[in-house]
Amino acid sequence: MSHSVTVFLMGAAALLLAFGFVISLANSYSAKHSSGELKRVTKLLPGMNCGQCGFPGCEAYAKSLLSGSGDITLCRPGGPDLVETLSGALGVPAQRGEDYDEQLLAPRQVAFIHPSGCNGCAKCVRACKADAIEGAPKQPHSVRPEWCIGCGDCVKACPEECIEMVREAPSVRRFNWEIKSVQIAPGRR
Ligand code: SF4
Ligand code: SF4
Ligand code: SF4
Repeated sequence: MSHSVTVFLMGAAALLLAFGFVISLANSYSAKHSSGELKRVTKLLPGMNCGQCGFPGCEAYAKSLLSGSGDITLCRPGGPDLVETLSGALGVPAQRGEDYDEQLLAPRQVAFIHPSGCNGCAKCVRACKADAIEGAPKQPHSVRPEWCIGCGDCVKACPEECIEMVREAPSVRRFNWEIKSVQIAPGRR
């Protein structure tokens, strides 16, 4: 191999190495930047990790907001104040449609399995990321409403169409989402 060819090959290898280094620096900057964004948006959320937005926790919801797939009105504990905050932070207009308050203040939805239609195939169990469904093989299954995050994945997975999303009535075991309307009587603070 001639000297000039060797010099050319060494030069090309050096260029490739430099290029790879620049790309890896750019990737690392972008990863740090997006993880900073994720932390920033997650900190704006209530941190209850209750799943009522339909995502398994506040960070998952923050990810969906950053990717543009999640709506800013889904966090009921945060309520209208959070919608305004997210609107400002993400530059997304708060769409106050007819169902705006209904979306924020309605009792949460949970899955309910109609036992007479269930064949016990467990497809819903495999689809449930919250481990909220239980049941013995080939026996009617049931949902633990306190663990259900209302995502609706089990409804799509069920071949028998025997799962329904129902509104969970407020109870002392669950947070009362209407609590903002309760007035504290004078002298009782
Ligand atoms: S509903 Fe709000 S508080 Fe609950 S997990 Fe979703 S973002 Fe967090
Ligand atoms: S809606 Fe169904 S899949 Fe989603 S958490 Fe509740 S039981 Fe699980
Ligand atoms: S997927 Fe439907 S039929 Fe199968 S166990 Fe779940 S509820 Fe029952």
